[in-house]
Amino acid sequence: MPATTVAAMLHLFDTARAAVVPFEPRQPGKVSMYVCGPTVYGPPHLGHGRFSLVFDVLRRYLEWGGNEVTYISNITDVDDNIINRARAEGRSEDQVTAEYEAVWYEAMDAIGVRRPTAAPHATAYVPQMVELVDQLVQYGIAYETADGVYFQADRVEDYGLLARQSIDSLRSGARIDTNDEKRSPIDFALWKKAGPDELSWASPWGPGRPGWHTECVVMSLDLLGDGFDIHGGGQDLAFPHHENERAQSIAAGRPFARYWLHNGFVEVDGEKMSKSLGNFTNLIELIGAVDPRSYRLLVLRAHYRSPIDVDRASTADASAALARLDTFARKTRALPVVEADSVLIERFRAAMDDDLDTPLVVGLLFDAVRQVNSLLAADERVEAAPLASAVRTITDALGLVLHGDEQEIPPDVRSLAGRRDEARAARDWLLADALRDQLQAEGWLVEDSASGTAVRRR
Ligand SMILES: [Zn+2]
Repeated sequence: MPATTVAAMLHLFDTARAAVVPFEPRQPGKVSMYVCGPTVYGPPHLGHGRFSLVFDVLRRYLEWGGNEVTYISNITDVDDNIINRARAEGRSEDQVTAEYEAVWYEAMDAIGVRRPTAAPHATAYVPQMVELVDQLVQYGIAYETADGVYFQADRVEDYGLLARQSIDSLRSGARIDTNDEKRSPIDFALWKKAGPDELSWASPWGPGRPGWHTECVVMSLDLLGDGFDIHGGGQDLAFPHHENERAQSIAAGRPFARYWLHNGFVEVDGEKMSKSLGNFTNLIELIGAVDPRSYRLLVLRAHYRSPIDVDRASTADASAALARLDTFARKTRALPVVEADSVLIERFRAAMDDDLDTPLVVGLLFDAVRQVNSLLAADERVEAAPLASAVRTITDALGLVLHGDEQEIPPDVRSLAGRRDEARAARDWLLADALRDQLQAEGWLVEDSASGTAVRRR
């Protein structure tokens, strides 16, 4: 546990207040977060990687500070893109969403993003969504048209808060809709009526499906309760998605998120830029091509609200920096484990408390690594140890895994593990089990990993 300090307090930029404000959770020591998750109809893009990493870092930092964090991130498994893909590929929506949900978690695991406390699926919440839409219709805030049910945006007094625009400027900036039944171009769909043979659920307005903005408001309030702490997502979600979630909650008389956090864009995203420029098409391609830890370091090197470039050049640069950290980990492996240098830890905390100033933290880390290296070069091991421990404490807190801790695995043990993989491939379970027993008898823990038999010292 980190040492406690007086008056240290996390400050975060709240989009609703357009200012860095002190963060005070609804319940001291307990933080509730909702981060909008993916719509699962294709591989995650680079922007998905960024928001997941940004909020993973915040979650880890809150936990490091002794908070209990409930982290909810949904899976949107009903959407036009899903329906279109299923149709084009001649399979069911369920097959499409199951495939890409698995791909999503594969990518998240690879970049070290911890699984959410709960990951609600939109399709499991349709009855509650119908209930909310019905309530808004009863209140006279939502109205039915030929193709669905719409929310009358100007019924919420401060609509435009997250967009940082007045309702008049939103209205004049809105695209003129072909749907002339809408009372205003800024009104948005809560429910979409389905045609025959379309994926649908029953409702008082006939068969249909919920609008995206209704999904998140229902799931976040259900799992986290009224007035939960943090609602997060990429800055492109602030308007209209988050604005519309908030509008529904307010109209239903339920206090919504107390802090709104939005991260900056990934500027070079393979979906927008040509692959020939050396960009990654998506997150799966990135994790296949480079050390996935490099994305976390890239994210940490920039402030979370600033735009970043994620491409071959920037990931290569981050990988080179990681190599320095890994070398540090190997060189300091044999140092005695002592209490972390409190000055460095306090600087880390102060930087993070200042709206997550991770670029400053990365600077502190590399300064400390340089210091440790010079101390070790001068054989000042006792002086080096607390600093080295502090570097470890900080990288652990940020979810940055350093390689160099692995004990050397002797060649004969590697060879046994290799023979076991061959036996498994040949479905020779008897031999595979015998080899596992032999490894265990020699003091190794044996695990089956994606890349084959993994061993580590017991
Ligand atoms: Zn959402």
